[in-house]
Amino acid sequence: MNEFSELDEMYREVILDHYHSPRNNKSLDNPTKEIESNNPFCGDEIKLQVKIQDGIVTEIGLSGRGCAISQASASLMGEALLKNNINDSLKLYKDFRELLTGNLPEDQMDDLGDLIALEGVKKFPIRVKCALLSWSAFNDLIEV
Ligand code: ZN
Repeated sequence: MNEFSELDEMYREVILDHYHSPRNNKSLDNPTKEIESNNPFCGDEIKLQVKIQDGIVTEIGLSGRGCAISQASASLMGEALLKNNINDSLKLYKDFRELLTGNLPEDQMDDLGDLIALEGVKKFPIRVKCALLSWSAFNDLIEV
């Protein structure tokens, strides 16, 4: 995984921390919605469960396996979504996708919080799918 060793040192620590200690790594009993998704290019798998009340994500269950970037991104996403309004989270997804695939204006980067740790992934287009796997699953989950 050569590209991983090229990621910025500080970012790498955040990614490894979430990879080794994934947040919200559990299974929910009665999720409002759930979805499973995978990235065949890398073999990443993710299962996302959410409880939603009044437009707010009140609980998240995440599990999966795959590369460090996909799993760390899912963990970081879980933290960003929890207790948050769904519309705000969908906006966050669009900004995050812009960060990795396009050109997010610099003045909007502060809004991304810890997600900025994955910015270095944009140098490796094949890894962008890994980082976006959980987020696009969340997007699909909300739209169905
Ligand atoms: Zn991957």
